[in-house]
Amino acid sequence: MNIILLGPPGAGKGTQAAMLVKERNMIQLSTGDMLREAKTSGTAMGKKVAEVMDRGELVTDEIVIGLIREKLEGDKKGGFIFDGFPRTLAQADALDALLSEQGETLDAVIEMQVNDEVLVSRILNRAAEAVAAGGEARADDNEESLKVRLMAYYKQTSPLIGYYHAKGQLSSVDGLGTIDAVTADIAATLK
Ligand code: ADP
Repeated sequence: MNIILLGPPGAGKGTQAAMLVKERNMIQLSTGDMLREAKTSGTAMGKKVAEVMDRGELVTDEIVIGLIREKLEGDKKGGFIFDGFPRTLAQADALDALLSEQGETLDAVIEMQVNDEVLVSRILNRAAEAVAAGGEARADDNEESLKVRLMAYYKQTSPLIGYYHAKGQLSSVDGLGTIDAVTADIAATLK
């Protein structure tokens, strides 16, 4: 089973993906994590995308599609969870093509609904907690970049909701409940 977790920054996609990995032996493909890894390891691509990411804008479709392509070729285990990908209609088309090349299908798209005030406070809390724990906040977890990330979501990513709805693949869950409640809603959707 291959699924997409769709939702704005701070909706809890990564948290729920981790639950699905544990419970269903699925593979989490987070383009955000892959890009941050490229950034810290200082690869040419990482250097190229660093400023764009820190500002909160989307990196090019070509780069993220390339990252996903590589991962789809390996072991598929219990299936893929696409977390933070696709984020544009071009990425959605590319994913369709990549999955069919692999003889795979997209089985569900789960939209996690959360309101903006909650998103902002969740992300600013995450940043404060990271600092309090002696670490560093994500470079894009600040108010200014967050505004840009939210705008990128509404402008470039939210059209995917209508697209997958029209294809009959969309389910929506309330992302405001406890982690366990959201996990249960997602499990019910996937039955
Ligand atoms: P969040 O969902 O909290 O905004 P992510 O970790 O998914 O965070 O993404 C962080 C940043 O990485 C994005 O703001 C963007 O710059 C880049 N990024 C991640 N995935 C994509 C994607 N599919 N397309 C373009 N840029 C992406």
